[in-house]
Amino acid sequence: MNIIFMGPPGAGKGTQAERIVEYYNIPHISTGDAFRAAMKQGTPLGIEAKRYVDQGLLVPDEITIGIVRERLQEQDCEPGFLLDGFPRTISQAEALSGIVQAMNRKIDFCIDLLVDRNLLLARLTGRRICKSCGATYHVMFNSPKEEGICDKCSGELYQRSDDTEEKVGTRLDEYLNKTAPLLDYYRTKGILRQVNGEQDIDVVSANIQSVLRGLTE
Ligand code: ADP
Ligand code: AMP
Repeated sequence: MNIIFMGPPGAGKGTQAERIVEYYNIPHISTGDAFRAAMKQGTPLGIEAKRYVDQGLLVPDEITIGIVRERLQEQDCEPGFLLDGFPRTISQAEALSGIVQAMNRKIDFCIDLLVDRNLLLARLTGRRICKSCGATYHVMFNSPKEEGICDKCSGELYQRSDDTEEKVGTRLDEYLNKTAPLLDYYRTKGILRQVNGEQDIDVVSANIQSVLRGLTE
């Protein structure tokens, strides 16, 4: 199963991806996670990416596409993969199409999570992430059992530096201007499936599962 998760920042892509990859036993490929890891390590890629990520802007296509091209060649992608946060521009989508064709593969579904802008703001400013395992929480909507501590690995939770009100505004604008046009791109290909992302996390997961099993259009 080769899947793309689309939707604005805060729609729940990472949260749902954690569950779906466990079920299908496929890798979760998040370009945002890749940039944050490189930034933390201070690699040349991280230093370059930081200039954009810190402002809430998209990292240039040639950098982002290179990361995904390399990652998809790795052996663990053979049974399939879940792309979270890529593609985010038409150029990225066209490059991805070339990459998967060269691998004799195809994208099965592009799942778009639908969430209202006001709710996105509340979700992003309350998001907390585990420093050790990357699990995602929310201070109100999906809180850990013990404040600041990951339920899964007891790691410390932190707030992303781009999850501030000011940067969220820029990130949502980038989504509307550059990423939203991709919905038509995948609709035309017949693989776009839209799921209401405003429901409970478990309900959204169940609806995504139905789509992936071909039970709902
Ligand atoms: P994305 O990866 O699309 O940016 P996340 O999965 O990180 O979004 O979710 C953003 C925030 O919203 C997180 O704090 C997460 O815990 C919370 N969240 C995700 N899905 C839901 C949901 N269905 N209901 C309530 N909160 C949610
Ligand atoms: P995310 O973790 O998906 O919210 O991404 C965090 C940040 O990483 C974004 O605001 C961008 O700066 C950058 N980023 C992640 N994925 C991409 C992408 N596909 N294209 C360009 N920039 C990206």
